[in-house]
Amino acid sequence: MTLINEHFLKLQNNYLFSDIAKKVNSFKVTHPKDKIIRMGIGDVTQPLAPAVIEAMHKAVDEMASKETFHGYGPEQGYPFLIDAIIKHDYASRGVFIEPGEVFISDGAKSDCGNIGDMLRHDNSIGVTDPVYPAYIDSNVMSGRTGVLKNGKWSDVVYIPCTAENGFIPDLPARRVDILYLCYPNNPTGTTLTKEELRKWVNYALANDALIMYDSAYEAYIQDPNIPHSIYEIKGAKKVAIEFRSFSKTAGFTGVRCGYTIVPKELQAFTLNGQRVQLNKLWNRRQCTKFNGTSYITQRGAEAVYSAAGKQQVKETIRYYMTNARIMKEGLQACGFTVYGGDNAPYLWLKAPDGLSSWKFFDKLLYEAKIVSTPGVGFGPSGEGYLRLTAFGDREDTLEAMERLRQWSD
Ligand code: PLP
Repeated sequence: MTLINEHFLKLQNNYLFSDIAKKVNSFKVTHPKDKIIRMGIGDVTQPLAPAVIEAMHKAVDEMASKETFHGYGPEQGYPFLIDAIIKHDYASRGVFIEPGEVFISDGAKSDCGNIGDMLRHDNSIGVTDPVYPAYIDSNVMSGRTGVLKNGKWSDVVYIPCTAENGFIPDLPARRVDILYLCYPNNPTGTTLTKEELRKWVNYALANDALIMYDSAYEAYIQDPNIPHSIYEIKGAKKVAIEFRSFSKTAGFTGVRCGYTIVPKELQAFTLNGQRVQLNKLWNRRQCTKFNGTSYITQRGAEAVYSAAGKQQVKETIRYYMTNARIMKEGLQACGFTVYGGDNAPYLWLKAPDGLSSWKFFDKLLYEAKIVSTPGVGFGPSGEGYLRLTAFGDREDTLEAMERLRQWSD
């Protein structure tokens, strides 16, 4: 008899995007002539940069000849990409990263989800709330979250980020072993300053805790005082793993490439207190379960760091961030309270008149024909908010704001 991992059965009520899809489909059936503007799912809309396309075409051609064909690559990624990452993403900010600390992958979601493979099931988990759902769900699968009661997992420490605390998380009331931080934040679009981030690094150093730092949206940071990497904080290499992605930086959501930094200084413990380098464990895990990101993809990612690639990618980010500005100004002009959008492609909209997230979602869908994401889908502290994304076309963004202006008149 084959027994299942019963923790999977606890995942049943996370149907956020399928619930949204059902509501949108039924709207379409009853309003077939209406044009919907989608500002819900966080996917990019602009094509890949020409420099990336050119590099990928070249890599495809290499695959066509015996002399330049590439089979299995290194599980950790090709040195050409690792070196480009170290030079452009870290050395340029004064952060020293060794090649053996970079692990190329097929995206940040896989790494955020898989990283728990090397950690015991009985570590306590802390998450800022609301949060990108993959952190909690992957821990549910490994049995670290306890039972779900009133929308909260009993063994998860929720650290609320709301308008009341300016979206700046307080240190947890209960000790946590593993802490997830995501900045710029999905879903609130807010950021932490160096000082605020230092508080967390110091907490982890003092408590032998591990920080999982997801900076998938770092390329959207406009303010020079906001850290792009947790390693800009002294001591962070002893306590933090950092996840990065080419998805939002360079439109790779459909191509799939990201990377994870596991510093060699980072250690965790066996049950009897022996220190172990997490870098070694992650390397072993990747060599066992992952066979590398495709050569063609990694050549495309490398081109993001070429002079032309950098310029092109920056242009696309500027395009999305202009959308974000149009949205923020448009929403504020309509009288809405809105957060984020300054250093992230997400806007976090407070539902007016005490409406719940889902009620506000329905109202926007039926009255303005705009699809959003209900904030409560990202955790209990998201109730009463909606997430809007700036990844749409400019024309749609402008039209959405015009619809909202008419709607709120
Ligand atoms: N981390 C955060 C915070 C995200 O919002 C997303 C995607 O939306 C990811 C990671 C996943 O990135 P990738 O496409 O690299 O898997």
